[in-house]
Amino acid sequence: MIITMRSDAKKNEIKEVVRRIKKLGYETKIFSGVKKTVIHVIGVSDRDKIKKEVEQISGVEKLVPILHPFKLVSREFKDNDTIIDIGGVKIGGDEIVVMAGPCAVESEETLFKIADVVKEAGAKILRGGAFKPRTSPYSFQGLGKKGLEYLAKARERTGLKIVTEVLSVEDVPVVAQYADILQIGARNMQNYSLLKTVGRFNKPVLLKRGMSATIEELLMSAEYIVSEGNTNVILCERGIRTFEKYTRNTLDISSVPVIKNLSHLPVIVDPSHAAGDWRYVESLAKAAIAAGSHGLIVEVHIEPEKALSDGKQSLKPEKFKKLMRDICAISKALGRRIQ
Ligand code: PEP
Ligand code: MN
Repeated sequence: MIITMRSDAKKNEIKEVVRRIKKLGYETKIFSGVKKTVIHVIGVSDRDKIKKEVEQISGVEKLVPILHPFKLVSREFKDNDTIIDIGGVKIGGDEIVVMAGPCAVESEETLFKIADVVKEAGAKILRGGAFKPRTSPYSFQGLGKKGLEYLAKARERTGLKIVTEVLSVEDVPVVAQYADILQIGARNMQNYSLLKTVGRFNKPVLLKRGMSATIEELLMSAEYIVSEGNTNVILCERGIRTFEKYTRNTLDISSVPVIKNLSHLPVIVDPSHAAGDWRYVESLAKAAIAAGSHGLIVEVHIEPEKALSDGKQSLKPEKFKKLMRDICAISKALGRRIQ
């Protein structure tokens, strides 16, 4: 059960609600959001008893019974879709938003060239890792702060917003200083201290599904971020590990309608890390839009054969332009928009 307090609720009213709930024998957890405070009554609770006890306190807005283990991210808690505004780029509404760029920021020159390509093709957000989570410690680890500076310059040049991964708690302040969206990668989806830290920053978060995580675990991870006060979380399906070997991961396309049914948060799809091969990226991207995804994050490189990471799954400019044209047509047919 969740008790939502009105935005003008006074501190002593919140305290009084907690006192009365505790008197009934329940534990509580308070979430103090930017706009309002909500009180979570932990465990199975008697709605009528709680209602009788707190409804006359004027700061109480409503009581919402929530059966799922995730609360604040659930549809039961908030019925209407969350739309996240990233400096005018809105994710979660009718518009399809495409994020595109290299797997990693490699050099200023390459990044600028790729940024120009994806901008011209209609992407709104530039992706590129400055801190890279690599399976091998001997692989390219990213340019670090220098990479963030190149991303910021590319933003200045093109007007594209920036999404980039943050790997560790210590790096959150510097990445947040440069990025428009903080990416939490698949490998860190259950790094709870990192989730809590980004939850305390006022920056949208792109949370990628762990490669062996269930949808429920993904939503529980989102709950960690939202319960710290940051409600701007975009979920990302990027494929899960299965017995299939011909693709890098198996894109769980059904996660899109399932997540949209369970949660009010926006959901996008990464066809690149799912496919692991550029030849399949287009089909998966189109399927994602048809399934109702709010957007895509796609790897694009001007010379994939020379890329320092994930060249095999990166689209060349021409292929990306064609994909954008097709996405436009599909969006229109579905009554959605892509600017
Ligand atoms: C990435 O986006 O480059 C990346 C490492 O993705 P994931 O965390 O989904 O593997
Ligand atoms: Mn990659």
